[in-house]
Amino acid sequence: MLIRALEENKLSHAVLLTGPSGSGKKSWGRTLAMAILCPGRNDGNPCMKCPSCRSFVNGNHPDYFGLSPEGRKIKIDQIRSIRQEFYLQGGRKVCLIEQADAMTGEASSSLLKILEDPPEGLHFILLAEKPRLLFDTIVSRCQRFVLKPLGFSEIAGLLEDRQVPSEKAALLARISGGLPGRAYELAEDEHFEGRYDEAKTLAYNLVTGCDSARQLLSWANYLSEKDDLIPFLELLGMFYRDGLIGNLSESKAAAWLSETPLRGLEDAVLLINNTIFEMNTTNVNRRLLLEKMLILLQRRLTQCQRLSGSALNRPGKPTTSSRL
Ligand SMILES: [Zn+2]
Repeated sequence: MLIRALEENKLSHAVLLTGPSGSGKKSWGRTLAMAILCPGRNDGNPCMKCPSCRSFVNGNHPDYFGLSPEGRKIKIDQIRSIRQEFYLQGGRKVCLIEQADAMTGEASSSLLKILEDPPEGLHFILLAEKPRLLFDTIVSRCQRFVLKPLGFSEIAGLLEDRQVPSEKAALLARISGGLPGRAYELAEDEHFEGRYDEAKTLAYNLVTGCDSARQLLSWANYLSEKDDLIPFLELLGMFYRDGLIGNLSESKAAAWLSETPLRGLEDAVLLINNTIFEMNTTNVNRRLLLEKMLILLQRRLTQCQRLSGSALNRPGKPTTSSRL
């Protein structure tokens, strides 16, 4: 849609790209800026060969101006600098504002004034994860495009284009939640394999109940010190989610999960998601929260296993169990 709008000269002077972190806003925004500036554009794509494209890639294009937060906010002086940069000379120019939702109120008002009466040839590209934080009056002056997560196979294909082996690409595609930026980040993360193996070990131990309470507490202590605790917990949750989907769809769950009842897996996924949410949104003591999570996880996963085992073996019990 973006490329077509550009090709048909229907691109508004202000474009707003929204989508979650890692969805490709910056890549699209920069490619669009390059395409707007490129005189040899082909089917909406920048030619990548002309002096304009080359200077853009080298980061010294005279008609491109990028803005991002200084500290946590985009301040009014930064927006004012757009006038100094661009208002003197004519011609095509592009201003890309990253994290436009981090503009202060004053900066937003200042930008609004420019958008209300933009100089000829000046294009704005605004990127925002949380567009609801933008002034409605700014959003209404922009042509808005929403970047949606991609399908797993599309992400896997993008990774394979970057020489990621296909098995790893498929795994990363699932973990990335359809966000290419996240997938690329994981592909370049040298600690990924180690984290994956560790999460799998813990996932296995919890299902089989082979760790003592003392061992669970030392897991909690160890994990609470990890810088990559959240990605670790996401992986842990992924094993149980995959087991759940595998057992539900009668495709193959990993053998060590195929005996675990759906209810235990479901509880495990919820429990891990809640823990991640709590860690991201509150100032909790991570170790205590992990202790609670691990003990509950082991109890839910192994209790379900025992219950279903005894339920299935008990004579006279109906063959279908509503619990399952
Ligand atoms: Zn070009």
